Amino acid sequence: MPKKTMNKFRKKVAVLGGGVSGLAAALTLAEGGFKVIVAESSPYIGGAAGSVGIPDGRIASIGYHHIVGSDKRLLEVLNKLDLISRVNWKKIHVSTLVDKKNIDLASPKDVMLFKRLPFISRFKYMFLGARCMLTKDWSSWKDRTVTEFVKSWADEKVLQAIFAPLVDIKFGLLSDQADAAWLGRRLSHAEGRTPFGFIPCASWNEEMCQEFKRRIESLGGEIMLNTPLNAIALDKKGKVKSVKLGSKTIKVDAALNTIPPPALNPILIEAKAPSRWLRVLGGIKYMSCYSLLAGLPTVPFRDYWTVFLYPRAIFGGCFSISNLNHTLITKKDKAVINLFTNLEYGKRPWSLKKYEEMVISDLQTVTGKKIRPNWVKTNIIKFVSPIFSVGYKNPPAKLGENLYLAGIYRTYPKFSTTGEAMASGIETANLLLKDFN
Ligand SMILES: Cc1cc2nc3c(=O)[nH]c(=O)nc-3n(C[C@H](O)[C@H](O)[C@H](O)COP(=O)(O)OP(=O)(O)OC[C@H]3O[C@@H](n4cnc5c(N)ncnc54)[C@H](O)[C@@H]3O)c2cc1C
Repeated sequence: MPKKTMNKFRKKVAVLGGGVSGLAAALTLAEGGFKVIVAESSPYIGGAAGSVGIPDGRIASIGYHHIVGSDKRLLEVLNKLDLISRVNWKKIHVSTLVDKKNIDLASPKDVMLFKRLPFISRFKYMFLGARCMLTKDWSSWKDRTVTEFVKSWADEKVLQAIFAPLVDIKFGLLSDQADAAWLGRRLSHAEGRTPFGFIPCASWNEEMCQEFKRRIESLGGEIMLNTPLNAIALDKKGKVKSVKLGSKTIKVDAALNTIPPPALNPILIEAKAPSRWLRVLGGIKYMSCYSLLAGLPTVPFRDYWTVFLYPRAIFGGCFSISNLNHTLITKKDKAVINLFTNLEYGKRPWSLKKYEEMVISDLQTVTGKKIRPNWVKTNIIKFVSPIFSVGYKNPPAKLGENLYLAGIYRTYPKFSTTGEAMASGIETANLLLKDFN
């Protein structure tokens, strides 16, 4: 154990939120000699990258989760945590269901057969894809809309047939509300072309979170589950004096927040925080989501990732997670799938039961088969992802004298992966360490 961590007078930092950015920040701070307390409102760590038990002692991500082969920041962390050697890699397939046919919108051959686009627009669409892959700097597309971008690099038909429905599936936004730099950056990643990683007989993100926990605790840090941040006490200059975690008030030297801003803001209002802080964070809107895991007696989709474009289903996509991690298959479950429905936060029109019924009914419609799951497991994640609408601004890494910010909501316009979320946590933790040393 480093000497500094033995010092009982060492500085105390509250890390707010136990998602991957909070865990990465907490480990960095603990390694830097700080006493860290991680407060997580839910019963598990990992946040959006959390995991749940499914029948037969298996464990799966609440949402689908693959290791994106090009996510260098994630690979660095897995390496540091001695997990990289357990990762298996697989080339996966992404397909889009259009009029009951699976097509690959990254394959020139399939695009040439995509009848919903006029002939000339098929070429324009492919040209847009190629141009995205060659573009590294997306700054000139910041504060501009997806509509402007797609019309400029392809045409209106491409926008209406492909990108308008995709933006709706992802954020529930119209294409002239969604941000062009975000979309371009995402396309330039060509996610479906990189191999995807997984850890056999495990949920890789759960393994990663548990390893973070083990290391944080071995450095004297504490992770408090079922413990929401309930209040922050600020002095007149806006310095954090203490935080109320659950029912306990704890004096701290600094706080590093990774809680989604829509959950933090009411607490800052209560704390009479400077109006500038509320302005910075108040503009950040989040999606919430329904996530349904199911074990099926048949394999409904050929590919790991199927997007439903025409007709649209209640869910935007199906991740056949056992197609990537084959160790999830059992005698009964020939496939384990994750179906995902994004919702604008606050819109929660269904009960879980009703949602399950709608999913099963849509699953039968899109597959044309009478599928009866062996089991289903449904979750609602309240704040799952920031909505990158046009004009999105990352808040600063430091809000007041000792209140720091990190998390996925600070990574625009990068591709929103676990790697980028953790990189944000590490970067802010390093800033804090520098300020205090
Ligand atoms: C469905 C889905 C699939 C994804 N798939 C992949 C993938 O395949 N590969 C990949 O690399 N990335 C993937 N991502 C992205 C990645 O999971 C996220 O970017 C990352 O997990 C975000 O981490 P975070 O710590 O910034 O935020 P969060 O995970 O949102 O963490 C915030 C934490 O704060 C907690 N919290 C909220 N309010 C309070 C409060 N009052 N007090 C205390 N705690 C509170 C929350 O419970 C949560 O744990 C996916 C994301 C989603 C949503």
